[in-house]
Amino acid sequence: VLHPDDLDKINQSIADSATHLTPWHCEYRVCLPSGNIIWVVGHATPRREPDGSTIWHGYITDITERKEAESQLQKMQVHLQQVNQKLSQLLNIDSLTKIANRRCFNLRLKQEWLRLQRNQKPLSLILFDVDYFKNYNDHYGHPQGDICLTRIAQCVKKAVKRPADLVARYGGEEFVVILPDTDEQGAIAVAQRINLAVTKLAIAHQTSEIADHVTVSVGIATQIPQADKSVKTLIAQADTALYQAKKQGRNQVVSSASLGSGAD
Ligand code: GH3
Ligand code: MG
Ligand code: MG
Repeated sequence: VLHPDDLDKINQSIADSATHLTPWHCEYRVCLPSGNIIWVVGHATPRREPDGSTIWHGYITDITERKEAESQLQKMQVHLQQVNQKLSQLLNIDSLTKIANRRCFNLRLKQEWLRLQRNQKPLSLILFDVDYFKNYNDHYGHPQGDICLTRIAQCVKKAVKRPADLVARYGGEEFVVILPDTDEQGAIAVAQRINLAVTKLAIAHQTSEIADHVTVSVGIATQIPQADKSVKTLIAQADTALYQAKKQGRNQVVSSASLGSGAD
């Protein structure tokens, strides 16, 4: 009647109890003649007989209900974990491009701003925007536009290397990259890598006015966060630099620092 999968466990526990004359406890399954399987727990005290054999006195209790409740609880916990994971994804991941979304970006930027304000280390922000993307959509269709945005997002995510860096979709065809502990020179290097990586994707763009493939314009801002300023100033500077990159002919990188104090 003992469940074959529990036999080893039962034999081992009995052998241990007999050897050391310690109380026997074991939870195991029993196969009833009806075909049902129940869970039981056995408790017994061993006693050595004069002839060297061992006799146990004890009792066995049906614990099937408890085991079923435990198993239900375990299933529920696994399910809850999956729901939590899904929720966190929905909250933080952009559904189209599968990179971080604006909400995730906002939270991370604030965190990094405060951390680097304490450490007085530079925080860089890269803001980039696809050039002539309205033309792209009009020419190739919106679904193809979606594919293009996803390819750009995934390729930029690969081009940005440090674990603390975050690539996010800022909205529409605009993306942002947070670069903690990164000065202006470092940010320019990453921005150029992003610009080149998108060029290398070589996504045909017949209706771009500056190239025959998809390109991006990139704005950069760097600050050592100060208590009297906020992340808004950093975003505004990157935005101004991006605007300048567009104005100067697109498909290029402009740093806010190169624009003088007008960008503050
Ligand atoms: P510029 O070079 O100055 O950036 O010009 P642009 O055409 O890229 O800029 P504009 O702001 O005029 O157009 C942005 C386009 O991006 C318009 C909009 O339909 C498209 N767009 C925004 N979000 C999405 C999206 O999720 N999917 C697709 N396919 N297109 C999008
Ligand atoms: Mg735009
Ligand atoms: Mg654009």
